Amino acid sequence: MATLERPELSVVIPALNEEGNITKLYDRLVETLDPFGRTYEILFVDDGSRDGTAALAEDLCRKDPRVKLIVLRQNFGKAAALSEGFTAARGALVVTMDCDLQDDPAEIPKLVAKLDEGYDLVSGWKYPRRDPLSKIIPSKVINWVARWVTGVHLHDFNCGLKAYRLNVVQDLALYGELHRYIPVLVSGRGYRVGEVKVCHHPRHSGRSKYGVERFLRGFLDLITVTFLTRYNKRPIHLLGGIGALFFFLGCIANGYLSVLWLLGYGIGYRPLLFLGILLIIVGVQLGCFGLVAEMLTQLSHGRERDSLVRRTVGLDGRQGEPRARTSPDLGSRS
Ligand code: UDP
Ligand code: MG
Repeated sequence: MATLERPELSVVIPALNEEGNITKLYDRLVETLDPFGRTYEILFVDDGSRDGTAALAEDLCRKDPRVKLIVLRQNFGKAAALSEGFTAARGALVVTMDCDLQDDPAEIPKLVAKLDEGYDLVSGWKYPRRDPLSKIIPSKVINWVARWVTGVHLHDFNCGLKAYRLNVVQDLALYGELHRYIPVLVSGRGYRVGEVKVCHHPRHSGRSKYGVERFLRGFLDLITVTFLTRYNKRPIHLLGGIGALFFFLGCIANGYLSVLWLLGYGIGYRPLLFLGILLIIVGVQLGCFGLVAEMLTQLSHGRERDSLVRRTVGLDGRQGEPRARTSPDLGSRS
């Protein structure tokens, strides 16, 4: 059967309560992918739906062996659903899209063509975006801040429609709501990230799963990904750097007061004394946090199995092999 062979393309679709959309999305996908000429699989990940989504997806699996279904135990969130889909995907290329028909399957060939130009991740740019203004405006602000803070020049970080090379998704540690900034995480690992404009539609049926809280969470997640991509491997540079600055300012403040005290002035009532003490204590604590964070980095570093290599010369066939563990193998001693 065709299912034993690795398809060229895996389409991963997270779905939470999408019974009004799933069958229509399947029809639209087949309409585009059959004439596209690449073998494919469609992987639905049911993220704890309480409606008929999983049952409908199972019907599709029975009807078409190219359709697969993963049912999560409960609602774990879109990032977790994507992550499970990425683990199961077998295609050399992986496309993700939302299940509500806001993303248009007809755009998939465009994304794949851009991947073929040499990109590792191609992100959709919903243009023009078919969402209420109350969603479009805050999202524009977040995208602008994200571009500025991360240096990744995309217009639309959180478009559900994206295409990846398989090794890129296998290299992704997705949890919480980090799906919003996948391009930042991927770019931080040295992969090439591109963008193409894609057609966008209003939600076909059902309701959005996110309320206004998405914007505050979006900003918090931006802080997380910025920290993860810039300081994940050197937390002492951030925490120790801020700590050293605080400590230095505290020493200046209290040094100045010490001189006054030696000259016979009273300093016990000076607010600057308390500020100086506070800065010194917080500075030392931040430095200690930085050292603990370095220890955690050291522990996790030995477990990394992904390759950092894009290509090699004269080492044919060995590209992309997992790196040997750096921690000593105690069992191999004789
Ligand atoms: N989704 C999910 N788990 C969740 C929330 C959303 O799998 O906890 C799926 C949802 O079914 C849809 C996609 O993620 O396929 C995007 O969700 P939604 O359309 O509600 O987001 P919006 O378009 O409002 O940003
Ligand atoms: Mg949607």
